[in-house]
Amino acid sequence: MKDEDSAHISEVAKKKAELIHYGKIYVPDSIKLPYPLSSSTAGPGAGKKAFALSFGGTRLKLGFSKDKDSKFSLKKNGDGFQIIKDKEVYVHDVEIIPTLLHAPNQAFVNLRDGCIYSCSFCATPILDEAKKKTVSPEQIVNMILKASNQEDFQSVAITSGIVGSPAKTLDEILWVVKKVKENLGEVEIGVEPYVSEAKDIQRLHDAGATEIKINIESYDRDIFNRICPELDYDHILKMLKEAAMLFGRGKVTTNILVGLGESDNNVLDGVEYFAKRGVVAVIRILRLNDYNHRRIVDALGHDVEKVPLERMMDLAIKQKGILERYGLSTMSFKTMCHKCGCCDIVPFKDV
Ligand code: SF4
Repeated sequence: MKDEDSAHISEVAKKKAELIHYGKIYVPDSIKLPYPLSSSTAGPGAGKKAFALSFGGTRLKLGFSKDKDSKFSLKKNGDGFQIIKDKEVYVHDVEIIPTLLHAPNQAFVNLRDGCIYSCSFCATPILDEAKKKTVSPEQIVNMILKASNQEDFQSVAITSGIVGSPAKTLDEILWVVKKVKENLGEVEIGVEPYVSEAKDIQRLHDAGATEIKINIESYDRDIFNRICPELDYDHILKMLKEAAMLFGRGKVTTNILVGLGESDNNVLDGVEYFAKRGVVAVIRILRLNDYNHRRIVDALGHDVEKVPLERMMDLAIKQKGILERYGLSTMSFKTMCHKCGCCDIVPFKDV
């Protein structure tokens, strides 16, 4: 990272990055969190208990830890909280914020735990039975409707592991989108499906979905083939192009994972390739955990390490520059990760 870039990064963004990078915070028994912990079965925190907090205009989600030796710990401070690092106050004014369903302000649901595919970075296919939730689509709709009555509700998002077949899972997502639309009318609905053909994208759009995420996972073709051996790289590129034509610029997104051995140039080429087509990628730092580390190493044939903080910030800044050149922003999104911002350094929000 160049010195002038570094000078433009706010202290808040630097602290957020360091906290995300570490991933967890010690919460002493004396602190009773104001909201229940979120236990996700999809996304970077799958299988772990976490909670959301905000400071200095940003927000993030951290793993809930009972490890007293954790680098970061939470401290009560009057009505609010502080984050302590190495016995010093690291962040002064911290607020614990509610996650409506999984994310702040969003009813973000995972329809199905488990998956017929076996992408090696993803915890969903191999979550312990005890951590899987069995909830019917009807119950999911009820959960969303209940969440929509909360004052902090803003939007809906739906993801799902692929269970049975892509077609069956897509039908379930569609059913939920239609029911939500029927009940809530004008509401922003983001979907994160596996799509087999362009017709699926059309059906989701017609049903009322307003934003869509179709994940490429790695823009490096060789890495993609190793970590998602059952999926087709070119097919996903094609589906993203179709989605952008239908949903419009700044309404389509895709995860690009960083930390699998790809080069920065490859990541940024990916960001630019998608930006040219109106797609705003999420650059997501790979989270290594007990569920995925061994599987990733086996798939890639080499070990992987945590992405350095510097690289995380540098890529976010360069992504912002690319998006600006194409007249795009993360701020156009009303659902899913760009809107939530809890797991990444988000261009235009954090840098
Ligand atoms: S950034 Fe995305 S994965 Fe992370 S908590 Fe928010 S919605 Fe979930």
